[in-house]
Amino acid sequence: MTKPSPYNDKQYKAAKRRLHGQPCVDCGNIADTVDHIRPIDTFPPGTPLNVVNAPDNLQPMCIRCNSRRGAQYRNRKHARKSWRNKTYTPKRLPTPSQ
Ligand SMILES: [Zn+2]
Repeated sequence: MTKPSPYNDKQYKAAKRRLHGQPCVDCGNIADTVDHIRPIDTFPPGTPLNVVNAPDNLQPMCIRCNSRRGAQYRNRKHARKSWRNKTYTPKRLPTPSQ
């Protein structure tokens, strides 16, 4: 068995159907992607997909904002590796929906 992909999960696919076409949380354009508020790779290995893909952790985002955000995240992560004496605390955790 291959490792299940968070993007192949039925909860994620349901979120795509629900969130695509809504306004992007960043720029307000029509969203055509679903963004993980807390990045997938910040979850400990073995975290169930229904936690990673919890509705509270997903938001509508357009492809431009999503790729920009992904690039920023990867840059930060890369930078973090060189800050050998600093501990990293994720700043953007999912905020509970009201
Ligand atoms: Zn956008």
